[in-house]
Amino acid sequence: MQSLPDIRGFIKNTLIEWDGLISSEVFLPGCNFRCPYCHSYELFTKPDELDAVSWDDVCKYLDEKKGWVDGLVLCGGEPFMSRGILNCLEMLKNRGIKVKIDTNGYFPEELRKAIARQLVAYIAMDIKAPLNALEYSRVTGVNNVDILKLVESINLIKKSGIDYEFRTTVCPVYINKKNVVEIAKSIEGAKKYSLQQFNPKNCYSTSLRGIKPYLKEEIYEMKKLVAPYVESCMVKGV
Ligand code: SF4
Repeated sequence: MQSLPDIRGFIKNTLIEWDGLISSEVFLPGCNFRCPYCHSYELFTKPDELDAVSWDDVCKYLDEKKGWVDGLVLCGGEPFMSRGILNCLEMLKNRGIKVKIDTNGYFPEELRKAIARQLVAYIAMDIKAPLNALEYSRVTGVNNVDILKLVESINLIKKSGIDYEFRTTVCPVYINKKNVVEIAKSIEGAKKYSLQQFNPKNCYSTSLRGIKPYLKEEIYEMKKLVAPYVESCMVKGV
């Protein structure tokens, strides 16, 4: 039997992870980044202590709720670094389950295969910072980020013909107006760009837990600034 990734979290129904759809969501352990504002950090700090869920149980649930739950969101951590991720996407496709994948864009080879085999219906890629190694290291908490991998993923997604969005978490410590404009320019012409409100609650870095998020008006001001570069821009979480 082909190996499938471990699951370390399962939300049966959510309305906020796939715009316009009711979806289920599974969490896959492990991540190559260490973003200080991460809320899923237990997936890389202590994955073995989290409750495991089997793919059989997830698929059984989705079969039972067919026609009511529209699809499954795979997130992490970073799903594309999980061993067996492509087998898993293939298995879900064969069972008629529509999949959205959330990725940080650092695994373009797996992404390329998933796109070529039409294994996903929606891709959401985080763009954490302007595309230069220094800025990216600051926001992701790791050294020597290979920006070319991110650029490759961006280009693959834009040309894929698959529905997608790029998104940036606007944490005031790391991202300002100038940064979001720089990011928007680097994805110019993209179908959709989302600005995600920062949530200080239970961040990986305890030093961010007291940081005040941007005001709603400030994020909408950012939205105005990035709008000329993308087809549509959304604000989320405010
Ligand atoms: S890429 Fe996502 S899962 Fe990984 S550390 Fe950053 S926010 Fe957390």
